[in-house]
Amino acid sequence: MTKERFDYDVRCNTCFEKFTVQLFESHEKNLWLADHKDWYCESCKKEYFEKKRAELARTQAKRGFQALTGTPKRIAWAEKIRADLINKVDFLKQRLVFTDETEKELSDQSFQLFLQEWQMQTQAKWWIDHRQTTVRDISNRIAQISKEIKSGAGG
Ligand SMILES: [Zn+2]
Repeated sequence: MTKERFDYDVRCNTCFEKFTVQLFESHEKNLWLADHKDWYCESCKKEYFEKKRAELARTQAKRGFQALTGTPKRIAWAEKIRADLINKVDFLKQRLVFTDETEKELSDQSFQLFLQEWQMQTQAKWWIDHRQTTVRDISNRIAQISKEIKSGAGG
């Protein structure tokens, strides 16, 4: 049996640089893929992810979340975790129904205090350590904050 070749030349969709990929379908299909698929070279891919990461950081900064500290690798991971966790908070907030304005105000205040707690966490490590945080965990903590506000208000 002759040794098959799996290497195909493709062109990066961004910088038009030629590079080689390995494809393992039938030769015909591989040729089609090499021609029609959107290929991106490693450096453009890296640049793309870096851009995405910067966008994520900017979105978080707008909501009061500061730049994280740690190794670049950890920061990139922690930023993704932080975005996911903030989404969980938003998800929880959207699902809440209130019977009156006072209840809504208390809830808003609790969410705000809760987010402030998170905003103080600027170490990438903290977010990585808390990546398993569930909507339920968040909900429990917010309920606790609400209780503290209520008792603090002398109620
Ligand atoms: Zn490229």
